[in-house]
Amino acid sequence: AVFSSLADKLQETFKKLKNKGKLTEADVAEAMREVRVALLEADVNFKVVKDFVGKVRERAVGQEVLESLTPGQHVVKIVHEELTSLMGSSQSKIVISPKPPTVIMLVGLQGAGKTTSGGKLANYLKKQGRQPLMVAGDIYRPAAIKQLQVLGEQLQIPVFSLGTDVSPVEIARQAMEKASAQGNDMVIIDTAGRLHINEELMDELKNIKATVHPHEILLVVDSMTGQDAVNVAESFNQELGIDGLILTKLDGDTRGGAALSAKAVTGKPIKFVGMGEKLDALEPFYPERMASRILGMGDVLTLIEKAQVNYDAKKAKEMEEKMLKADFSLEDFLDQMQQFKKMGSVQDLLGMIPGLGGNKKLKDLQVDENEFVKIEAMIQSMTPHERRHPEIINGSRKQRIARGSGSKVQDLNKLLKQFADTKKMIKQFGGSAMMKKGKKGKL
Ligand code: GDP
Repeated sequence: AVFSSLADKLQETFKKLKNKGKLTEADVAEAMREVRVALLEADVNFKVVKDFVGKVRERAVGQEVLESLTPGQHVVKIVHEELTSLMGSSQSKIVISPKPPTVIMLVGLQGAGKTTSGGKLANYLKKQGRQPLMVAGDIYRPAAIKQLQVLGEQLQIPVFSLGTDVSPVEIARQAMEKASAQGNDMVIIDTAGRLHINEELMDELKNIKATVHPHEILLVVDSMTGQDAVNVAESFNQELGIDGLILTKLDGDTRGGAALSAKAVTGKPIKFVGMGEKLDALEPFYPERMASRILGMGDVLTLIEKAQVNYDAKKAKEMEEKMLKADFSLEDFLDQMQQFKKMGSVQDLLGMIPGLGGNKKLKDLQVDENEFVKIEAMIQSMTPHERRHPEIINGSRKQRIARGSGSKVQDLNKLLKQFADTKKMIKQFGGSAMMKKGKKGKL
């Protein structure tokens, strides 16, 4: 999961501190040494680590902390505050121009995830009720235009392209006219990437900038490249001037060095993070929530937001009623699982629940997402009648379902038992929930 190797180490250090009744300066010094090593191993910029540890140490050896009843927790609180401030304190939103269209220019090296992020960003803005126009400005990689057009089709968002024979500056200029004519309030310009920063690339980007005067120049960088990403950000900022970062592939970054150093090194905030290949896997970046995740304090807010976005209210209501009547079939079970899956990877969700993120046992348990796939296949191999009345599933039916779903009869037995247990539990709860319902309002 995101930041997991860094999170493990920090949480281990702080557990030791919390277990001590009183702290001495030596205890704090030892903990700070461990924090320093953990951050360096996470590929956080050397100077950033030095400053960070210095600040935390200074605050942590204060009288107030050492003499408090819970000094360990005090230190964690300080680390949380300093991590938050390191990543920019509060969320940095994109600037929306009072006079539409707002123009966002995406820049970055090849493979960083620029084109994908353009699609995700357009999708994000569309969901907020805006009407984005995507502009295919990467004329050197012909596949990039096609890629953007495919994204546009999937998302039902228009794409402006003039092929590969017109200069990117001209494309950007004409795209602005098009946006005005069509009433698009957001213009997202995809630009060419290169393998390395070079003068030619920078000149072209500067020309586009001078032509369309973007409200936001967002640099897309790959989180997994750690300090390289930060160096790229520094160069782009010096050469072109950027307003913020989109940090991609955070879903695969267990270390987090780029996320933790980017703001401190470049002075520019991370505005969005990419959390997967899917087109809804773009999240605004909240420093405080990220700090909470790293320290295993959970991220309830993101969890709730995900649930609200993805959980269909009508379905939830239906489910509630079915549960109350204990009229809950395997079909509903499948439905619930699918709703849950839409919220993201189970591992990531667990990390957002306070106290669970750092739970070693849970981590060793390794929620296996393949289990979900298996269960889904088994339920789908049943007839509708079987799903509603699993008690009729006898030996020969079991053989058929197992064969149809490519699983073993034992797996099917396990599922049926699990379902029967769940149903029994719901029956027990159902009665009491019904009584309380008047007072309780919503689930
Ligand atoms: P570009 O050359 O910068 O335009 O890069 P692309 O948009 O083509 O992305 C390169 C690869 O990175 C593609 O395979 C994307 O699916 C993948 N990618 C982009 N963003 C993310 C992300 O946030 N998470 C993951 N896991 N993959 C991503």
